[in-house]
Amino acid sequence: MDTQAVKHAIQHSGRYNRRGFESPTKRAKALGESYQSDLIASIRENNFSFQKGRLKIKLAKSFGFCWGVERAVAMAYETRRHYPDETIWMTNEIIHNPSVNNHLSKMNVKIISAKNGVKDFSPVSLGDVVILPAFGATVQEMQLLHEKECHIIDTTCPWVSKVWHTVEKHKKHTFTSIIHGKYKHEETLATRSFAGNYLVVFDLAEAKYVSDYIEGKGDKKEFMKKFSKAFSNGFDPDIHLERIGVANQTTMLKSETEEIGKLFENTMLRKYGPANINDHFLAFNTICDATEERQDAMFSLVDEDLDILVVIGGFNSSNTTHLQEIAITNKIESFHIDISDRISVENNSIFHKPLESELVLKENFLPDGDINVGITSGASTPDKVVADVIEKLIDIAT
Ligand code: SF4
Repeated sequence: MDTQAVKHAIQHSGRYNRRGFESPTKRAKALGESYQSDLIASIRENNFSFQKGRLKIKLAKSFGFCWGVERAVAMAYETRRHYPDETIWMTNEIIHNPSVNNHLSKMNVKIISAKNGVKDFSPVSLGDVVILPAFGATVQEMQLLHEKECHIIDTTCPWVSKVWHTVEKHKKHTFTSIIHGKYKHEETLATRSFAGNYLVVFDLAEAKYVSDYIEGKGDKKEFMKKFSKAFSNGFDPDIHLERIGVANQTTMLKSETEEIGKLFENTMLRKYGPANINDHFLAFNTICDATEERQDAMFSLVDEDLDILVVIGGFNSSNTTHLQEIAITNKIESFHIDISDRISVENNSIFHKPLESELVLKENFLPDGDINVGITSGASTPDKVVADVIEKLIDIAT
């Protein structure tokens, strides 16, 4: 599919909007009323620290709503105000945050349902309004909505669009895109749809496996089985790993994405030599600033004297999960929760999600005596949710 031609046709259809409908002032006011918090504002002013009695809280210096998410949420609300009576759909959750998604659901903004990973677009009628989320939509979905003559409100973050441009560039120059991401994540599904030949690698271990294969140390049958869900149709590792470029899901661990980039660059250098590297490897830079800032702030936070860490964000939020990984790597007891209701003040307990596990209950979660708690939140978590968590911690500690 000529993805650029499809995008061009949609963007010039007269039924496409990627700027929203309201002025920046009105937009900021509407968002502020719903999601900001005076408590968080005062903690920010106090060098991201707060103390009450035996409880000391240290907030990460960068956390919560990123620019791309704020813009997407604001555009979704504006869409409802602009089309008060029309049927409005979203191709997915606008962002990975339950409170925001519940809020939109109360405004009768519906999510297109999916079964076994396949979305059912049949309830979407000719001329309905459809919002594309911050992490984008596949080009096939966009094409289908265009054919249904829907009004498309595109909140795709420009950082995500940048990744799409990168893989389109790979395609144009017949390079295979190695995408550092989760092959099932919505953003990566969209990126895959814009790519030509591609292979998705989840982490450095998978990237090393691919690198070994490139250097002739692999078994093709095993390779094809291992990545069966993660490559493009007709992919042949003996052909399609000769010219590669790297891109990433914007919310992956930045340090790991950089390592993967270097690994493949060195692999191709060894195999083809410095004189030929440009024919076999394309440099990349698709790491999102907000993800980078939040991860850097988390690296600073784990250097503080902390007893425990609370990481707040949707359980299916990739960037939040990576923040928790940093806590685990630094051996700090951490609790990943999505909403403040996971904490019981009466029982001093927390219902939290350890990495790669189901939710578990931790009793006596705040120990007796003085306690230092670090807090951070993912890019799709409003300040209000962080404030609700802090208020519960205060209630337990006092
Ligand atoms: S995390 Fe980055 S890519 Fe994702 S919405 Fe925010 S700014 Fe955009």
